[in-house]
Amino acid sequence: MLELLEVPGLGPKTAKLLTERLRISSVEQLERAARSHRLQRLPGFQAKKEENLLKGVAVLKKGRERMHLGVALPLARELLARLQRVPGVTAVSTAGSLRRMKETIGDLDLLVASRAPERVRDAFCRSPFSARVLAAGPTKSSILTPDGLQVDLRVVAPDGFGAALQYFTGSKEHNVRLRELAIRRGLKVNEYGVFRTKTNRRIAGREEDSVYRALGLAWIPPELREDGGEIDAAKTGRLPTLVEPRDIRGDFHIHTTWSDGSDSLETVAKAGERLGYQYLAICDHSPSLKVAHGMTVQRLRRQMTQIRTLNARAARFRLLMGAEVDILADGRMDYPDKVLAELDFVVGAIHSGFRQSEAVLTRRLIAAMRNPYVTLIAHPTGRLMGQREPYPLDLDAVCAAANDTGTALEINAYPKRLDLSDAAARRAGDAGVMLAISTDTHSIDQLDHMAIGLGVARRAWLSPRQLLNCLSRSRLLAWIARKRRRLAG
Ligand SMILES: [Zn+2]
Ligand SMILES: [Zn+2]
Repeated sequence: MLELLEVPGLGPKTAKLLTERLRISSVEQLERAARSHRLQRLPGFQAKKEENLLKGVAVLKKGRERMHLGVALPLARELLARLQRVPGVTAVSTAGSLRRMKETIGDLDLLVASRAPERVRDAFCRSPFSARVLAAGPTKSSILTPDGLQVDLRVVAPDGFGAALQYFTGSKEHNVRLRELAIRRGLKVNEYGVFRTKTNRRIAGREEDSVYRALGLAWIPPELREDGGEIDAAKTGRLPTLVEPRDIRGDFHIHTTWSDGSDSLETVAKAGERLGYQYLAICDHSPSLKVAHGMTVQRLRRQMTQIRTLNARAARFRLLMGAEVDILADGRMDYPDKVLAELDFVVGAIHSGFRQSEAVLTRRLIAAMRNPYVTLIAHPTGRLMGQREPYPLDLDAVCAAANDTGTALEINAYPKRLDLSDAAARRAGDAGVMLAISTDTHSIDQLDHMAIGLGVARRAWLSPRQLLNCLSRSRLLAWIARKRRRLAG
């Protein structure tokens, strides 16, 4: 029955009915039964409901085929650390879609440079991460992890590492463009290097940037290699200065034990200080979100008092007083304005009424942005990978309103959200919208999801000046004050 509950839109009551009346206990059985319309025999089951469950099954299956970055990144880090220690290894890296930080990954690709490839292969295939060895050749091995994830490892000679890294990072479309460019210059490029076509002499390949240089290009960050205009930009010196981890001054949208988080204000503050941040915005839930223990105004004010006390003790670091405030079905905020005005940072979020039409949902978000105290719109499209499709939204209208009102849009770094997505964030960035990466942290280990949010921001071509996180605390507060002054008068 537990497996059935993973299907989006399937509640405990239905699950019980399916198990008891039709002896359905797996997603596969459910899918078969729905396709042969056996569900309609159950009391209260109409064709529409059967259809919705089939849609839910499709969303779930799509989510299971690929791993999200929250799984792939830590796995890759641990495997690479292990391979780095094998004698003879001179370099290690991720490759493929993980290095490009795509939101979901099919197989995880790793690349190692070594003069003793057998030793690397053995260490890889015998590691505790290997539940089954699918292939174990001299240059390429594949394993399945105990969780059924496939990891492919390639071992290459150190003097060809750069070319192999470029080649196996992809994307396919990016590499096709590079090969076309090479041909026009009398060169050929492959996984071993860049060669003059006439003489077959190799002119680059040890370092990855030498490959790009040989083709007359600046080195292109992996996150941009999607044939989205990056080669032209590299040719003409117009590549963006992408945001880097060191540009990040703080994180927004942090939950604590005051709503549905698992760490105290004090623990969160210490973690933020340890990360070298200037600020963290504490944003627990507002009262409408009862499942998440949303706070009454009274409790919110008590939390503010405690934050002030903690801040008085801190040297450079500060907690910002904030809240993740529900945007109600009619676009009003879940706290009155006079309460919002007491907060440093207000995140507006839609957590209900996802089935409204595009026009209504868009109007709802725009109404929230017109509130002078709303700083940031959280997870603007509401998607949860493998669980819920994004709700329909007129993104261009939302971006225009964000610019008009001086409201930021979130790149939520929670691995199943990544909302805005890379493509949507790029569109928002191009439209001049200010964005913010928030981890939506519910326990302090999730503060590390910033790396994933940075991946999305970089795939969206964003520079530090387009991100709220890259402002110093005083400039951030000035940015917020400007909207309040303008709209609240
Ligand atoms: Zn939320
Ligand atoms: Zn949240």
